[in-house]
Amino acid sequence: MHQHARRLTAVLSATSGLTLAVGLLVAPSASTAASSPSLAPAGAEERRPTVKDPTAVGKGGAISTVDPEASAAGLKVLKAGGNAVDAAVAAAATLGVTEPYSAGIGGGGYFVFYNAKSGKVRTLDGRETAPMKMPQDAFIDPATGKPYNFTPELVTSGASVGTPGTLATWDKALANWGTLSLADALAPATKVARRGFKVDETFRQQTLDNEERFAAFKDSKKLFLPKGDAPRVGSVFRNPELAATYDMIAERGPRAFYRGPLARLMSEVVRKPRTTNNTDLPVPAGWLTPRDLRDYKVRSQKATRTTYRGHDVYGMAPSSSGGTTVGEALNILERYDLSAMTPEQALHHYLEASALAFADRGKYVGDPAYVDVPVKRLLDDRFAAERACLLDPTKAAAKPVPAGDVTSYDGVCGPAAAKGTVDADTENISTTNLTVADKWGNVVEYTLTIEQTGGSGMVVPGHGFLLNNELTDFSTVYDAADPNRIQPGKRPRSSMSPTIVLKDGKPFLALGSPGGSTIITTVLQMLVNRIDLGMSIEEAIAAPRATQRNTTSVTAEPAFIAAFGPALTALGHTLVPAGDAFTSAAEIGAATAIELGPRRQMTAVAEPSRRGKGSAKVVDPR
Ligand code: GLU
Repeated sequence: MHQHARRLTAVLSATSGLTLAVGLLVAPSASTAASSPSLAPAGAEERRPTVKDPTAVGKGGAISTVDPEASAAGLKVLKAGGNAVDAAVAAAATLGVTEPYSAGIGGGGYFVFYNAKSGKVRTLDGRETAPMKMPQDAFIDPATGKPYNFTPELVTSGASVGTPGTLATWDKALANWGTLSLADALAPATKVARRGFKVDETFRQQTLDNEERFAAFKDSKKLFLPKGDAPRVGSVFRNPELAATYDMIAERGPRAFYRGPLARLMSEVVRKPRTTNNTDLPVPAGWLTPRDLRDYKVRSQKATRTTYRGHDVYGMAPSSSGGTTVGEALNILERYDLSAMTPEQALHHYLEASALAFADRGKYVGDPAYVDVPVKRLLDDRFAAERACLLDPTKAAAKPVPAGDVTSYDGVCGPAAAKGTVDADTENISTTNLTVADKWGNVVEYTLTIEQTGGSGMVVPGHGFLLNNELTDFSTVYDAADPNRIQPGKRPRSSMSPTIVLKDGKPFLALGSPGGSTIITTVLQMLVNRIDLGMSIEEAIAAPRATQRNTTSVTAEPAFIAAFGPALTALGHTLVPAGDAFTSAAEIGAATAIELGPRRQMTAVAEPSRRGKGSAKVVDPR
């Protein structure tokens, strides 16, 4: 594309007096910023997009995120001739502004890319790493010799802050496959940070949910609780310090983050959290050093691949457990004709297959740079055949089910093994996910996070972004046999499951979701809904959700319990309503997806109601 491209210089006003020239590669002839129709100043509504359309159908490119500003930023890049990778980074950077409690440069994530030119799926692992000085007993309170409580000690702490990987991921994605420079891709987000966005109910509620944590840190309090209260719904929230941070990165590149004063500052606040005098929160200190930041590397790696009823399902390999767990569950499910079953029977199979795959996730999956992860075996159909021996079509198995033996299997049912163990789990509804497709046929599925909603609670002074608390994804207590034990430099096991599905070698569906370990089941359930249960992609995302992660009960949304509770209870399942310790939300996940149809038709979908709805857009509406 490069030799046919010419430079379109678009002007996106950024600071007062400062104007950023944004170069986008487009075809075919020269033009200037002022004459660029697609980047011309927008109308009043577009200046601060607030309208959320959960479905958009059309051609020429599509994007789906949880947020109208982020989707608008990505759409603008697509319209100006940028590709899916450019748009994904522009949208992700904007989510760092408008969804600062879920994502941003203080966190990490997983980027999955279908390259139309090569026909291959590639992935980037931008997961946070444990600081090199993190001890194996990091989560044991030295005062008591007992594990810290998850809340409040671990979640609001320096101890759980990992080396952030998000900025390095954006940089690498653009360098590998994009057409924009990092500076250009950041420009739309910088503008939103400076001119502000409209506060909605979700933003206000998430701020209120974090009030005590934010009030514990001077800088978090100043930014997110101005005048002592969460920003009001309808007010404009500006983050000039984040805009200045993005400007600095635009000018000097990722070095401005991973080296020098900002790297030193991040290390300082993690090692000596700057709490206010009057907080009761304990806030243990952490270990991040400038060296950890300097040495951070994004990992390029092979996607996981599973075939499912004529589809090729590509997912994220470890350090995320997403690809292997979704893949193993699909391999188990493929042995049954779900489409011929009643919905209740099919859902029973979905729940049981998920529990079996979760048992193996707990036993075998961790960071492959530190532990041997048997990815191939976990995704072997014969292994799935043996695991399916424990699935009784007429009755829920006693949970937890035991893990399988990946070292010896032959696909033949043997005597049932002993009972399994439950993985300690802290389910979250934080994190964010986005899906982009462009007119050339490239597709991006990207899940990024700062872990908990509000991350560690700590804003980096003067820089307008929160640090993650991703290291809480490690097992709390050290056990040498546990693949997810704490080790210096290691990535904690994730559940993020950005997934791209091909049919006949061409992209058919891309999807992903936030939700901690429920991400895996949300992606799995949507795939079953779409591929087996005859739902459209809009129906598949809207359908009520339930999640079985090898625990004694199934966590489910109220609508799921109302519809399927009696039939599933009769099969031996115990259903409990969703909701966690931090929020009152009785929902699971906040997915986005794009389905690609014949003749490059694109259906972009976002949540029609969960997490305050999402925003789907296409370049040329139908
Ligand atoms: N830390 C979680 C993971 O990597 C994501 C957090 C969330 O989605 O709430 O799986």
